[in-house]
Order: sequence, then structure tokens, then C-alpha cells
Amino acid sequence: MRSIEQACYWLARLPPREPLPLSTPAEADIVVVGAGLTGLWAALFLKQLDPGADVAVVEQGIAAYGASGRNAGMLSETVDHSHGLAVQHFGFEEARRLAALGEQNVAELTAFIRDRGIACDYEPSGRLNVALTPAHLEEAARSVELAERLGLTTFRLLDAAAVQAEVHSPLYLGGVAVAGGGIMDPARLTDGLRREGERLGVRIYERTTVHSVSERGAGVVLRANGTTLTARRAILATSAYTHHLLPAVTFRFIPLYDYIIVSEPLTPAQWDAIGWRRRQGITDGRAFFNYYRPTPDGRVLWGTSEATYYAGNRVDPSCDHSPHHYATLRESWRRHFPQLADLGWEYEWGGAICSTTRLTPFFGRALGGRVSYGLGFTGHGLGSTRIAGRILAHLALERKGDLLDLSLVTRAPFPYPPEPLRRLAVNAVTRALRRVDAGGAPNLMLRLLDRLGIGFSS
Ligand SMILES: Cc1cc2nc3c(=O)[nH]c(=O)nc-3n(C[C@H](O)[C@H](O)[C@H](O)COP(=O)(O)OP(=O)(O)OC[C@H]3O[C@@H](n4cnc5c(N)ncnc54)[C@H](O)[C@@H]3O)c2cc1C
Repeated sequence: MRSIEQACYWLARLPPREPLPLSTPAEADIVVVGAGLTGLWAALFLKQLDPGADVAVVEQGIAAYGASGRNAGMLSETVDHSHGLAVQHFGFEEARRLAALGEQNVAELTAFIRDRGIACDYEPSGRLNVALTPAHLEEAARSVELAERLGLTTFRLLDAAAVQAEVHSPLYLGGVAVAGGGIMDPARLTDGLRREGERLGVRIYERTTVHSVSERGAGVVLRANGTTLTARRAILATSAYTHHLLPAVTFRFIPLYDYIIVSEPLTPAQWDAIGWRRRQGITDGRAFFNYYRPTPDGRVLWGTSEATYYAGNRVDPSCDHSPHHYATLRESWRRHFPQLADLGWEYEWGGAICSTTRLTPFFGRALGGRVSYGLGFTGHGLGSTRIAGRILAHLALERKGDLLDLSLVTRAPFPYPPEPLRRLAVNAVTRALRRVDAGGAPNLMLRLLDRLGIGFSS
């Protein structure tokens, strides 16, 4: 199996460069662990709030090594996984606030990449959520109606003819077109934020694994690469890896591996056979859905949210590949697009998504307030990590911010059970959701979890 740097289409496209590891004892005002989107946005917001702050970012791989460089690159305005879930968890008024915040975030993010000249192949092509069953059609209609009640004007219901006209799959029965958001190269976005941070004076130490964070006087000391980094405050932007440094958060999230394949470039005739001229990112209505999009050089990226939980919260390179998922991905492509059943696939990889029982991020502090953390972006982090970066910068600088009163900041999600119950529970829910995706009715366990507002998805 290829290393992630070669296997992941986006990472393989990054220009090679020589990263700088931490090699001697160093100090900073604020240290951010993790050079993914959360950590780098946090560093940029720290510099915006306090331009004089000495900020360092520490990353075990290179910037974009984690989910930020491995995702599908589908940017949406979603902060809350689904507007229906937001209403269920936080009430109608806060769901309305999150919906507006999500739209504002996409507008600010895309203005930022344009103004700073971050070349991440952004295409504002919107998204489609396609219905594969009559139940999905009903849900599509409900979601458009709710979006309108929440003040969103970008959602439009499509019938079978309208969705087929967009993209030619015999499986589509209808769907929802959302005008906002689009597609981009997520690794180039992350790398662009790294360069922007460096331009503002942020020091970025890569190939530097932090082994511990502990108190030292009024501040913290981080041990990494056989040396130390001391700081007044630390931000952990370590997503699905956070339990390695802060075991206490283990019961608030689960790491789930999603897998993706990327095809060879399609010929013009092959594109004609499937349509997709507007190049939207696409998802479907199943619990374990496919997500897919065209790439800048005319390939198809095809992913699955049928995620794997590796017992004991394992997150390491041994999880980066799954031949079983690659085979089922190819098979599901053939079912969706039989006219291109012979398409060849050139890249395949996995990455860890970080999920909570309420499917929205959460934030917290540790070591007497010296450490702040934020994680749990599920499959929506391309946009929502920017909001998280803003929240974390305010928490670390102890500044008042307009986002700190959001329930996803003030309230922790319902906990997951510890092992071995965790593994058994995840397996039971996975099996039950598979049955629903195959057309069965939700069993008692799923109905109970639904009543409690507890979800399971990457
Ligand atoms: C396969 C896949 C598809 C996805 N598709 C989409 C999509 O289309 N749209 C969307 O919005 N979202 C998508 N997501 C989700 C999105 O990628 C994440 O929510 C987002 O990237 C999270 O960013 P992050 O910075 O919090 O985490 P990460 O990018 O994982 O960053 C955490 C960083 O911390 C580093 N780190 C961890 N521990 C240490 C340590 N001890 N020392 C030093 N460094 C450390 C890691 O190496 C990593 O780089 C997808 C995710 C995956 C995996």
C-alpha cells in the first residue's frame, strides 16, 4: 500500500518542500498543536486579535497531513450536520443563528482565499443531495421547507427529471439543489493558510510530534522531538487524535475512518455520458451515503461515509487503507453510473473524521484553563473549522467573542460509553443503519437514539 502522501490525490498534488522540525528548546506566547484547518485558522485569528502575540504551530506530519488534506473538498455552509438536528439539539432560534452563521462563514472564507490569492481551485458550484428512495424524497421536501423557515433561500427541490438533467444516474429519484458553497482542493487551502500564517510571523514546526502537554508555572510545557516548547497557553487542534494528548476527552468523541477513491481523468465523451456540467459536490439521502465531486483535472472523487471505527480509538497510519472499502466504493460507482462501469481508479486513501453523539463540534478547556480545544466537525469541517478557529483564538486569549455563547461552545455532547461497550455499540448501530439504508424500518434502538437526539455518522 502506498504512503498517504502518495496515495491521497490532494497530498500528492502539493509541491514538495523541506519542513522545519522543532530541534531546540523554544518558547511562544501561544502554541497551537495541529496544522490542519482548525489549528491554522486559530493561528490566523490569534494574529488578527493580537498582532503582537508570538504564535507557534506544531504538527506531527506536514500541514494538511490529517483530515484537512485528505477530505473530499466539498465546502458547505453546514455547521450543525443538518438543520433538523440543530433544531432538535439547540432549539429553533439557535438553529436559525447557526444557519446564518454558516452562510456568512462561507462568504468570508471564499473572500479570504480570493483576497490572499490562495490557489486552491475553488469552484462555487453549490451542492446536490440526491434522493435514492421515496423516503429520501420525503426528507428532501422536509429539508427544503425547514431551510426556508430558517431564513435560507438557497435550497431548491428537484424532481426526477430535474436531477437527471443535472447528472445522469438511473438511481436518482429527485433531490435538493443548494446554491451555496462549492468544491476545492482542501490540501492547497490548508497549505495556503500555513503560508499566510508564516507571512504574519507564525512559526510552524512540522514533523514534530507532541508527546505531552503539562502545566509549568502559570503556563504549559510541551514535550516533542526530545526537546520542549513552553508557552503561556496552548490550543489543541488535534481533532480525531486529541485523546493521545488529553485522554479525558475520549468519552466525548469517536474517531471514524472514511475512505475515498479517485479515478483516472475522464474523456469528454465520458463526461457527456454522465452530464454533471455544473460540477456540484453530491451526497445522497442514506445514513451511509456516497459523496462525490469532479476534480480540477477532470477525474471523479468518489467517497463513502460508511466509516470504520477501529477498536480502542485507534488513529494511526495502519488505518489509512481499507481494501474492503475500496472494493465496495468501486461497486457502488458501477451501480450509480453503469454507463462508465469500466472507469479506472488511480488513488485510494482514508482519513479520520471526528464525530460526537450530537454530530456537532464541541469546545473545552483543560489544565486549569491553560489549554483550549475544539473538535467534532464530522464531515463538515472544511467550512466549520474556520468558525472553530475563531472560537479557539478567543478562548486562548480570554477575549469576549460573539460566538462564545453558542450552545455548541457552552454545552458538551452526550458521552460515548468506554471500551469494550463502545465498540459493541458502534457495531450494533452500524448494522441497524445498514438495514435502514437497505429499505428496512428503524429498529427500537435507532428510534430510542433518535428520541434522545443521538446520531451516528461521519
Ligand atoms: C475522508 C474524509 C472526507 C471528508 N470530506 C469532507 C468534505 O468534503 N467537506 C467537509 O467539510 N469536511 C470533510 N471532511 C471533514 C474535514 O476534513 C475535517 O472536519 C477537518 O479537516 C478537520 O480539521 P482539523 O484541523 O480539526 O483536523 P485535522 O486536519 O485532522 O488536523 C489535526 C492535525 O493535528 C495533528 N496532530 C495530531 N496529534 C498531534 C500531536 N500529538 N503532535 C503534533 N501534531 C498532531 C495531525 O497530524 C493533524 O494534521 C472529511 C474528512 C475525511 C477524513
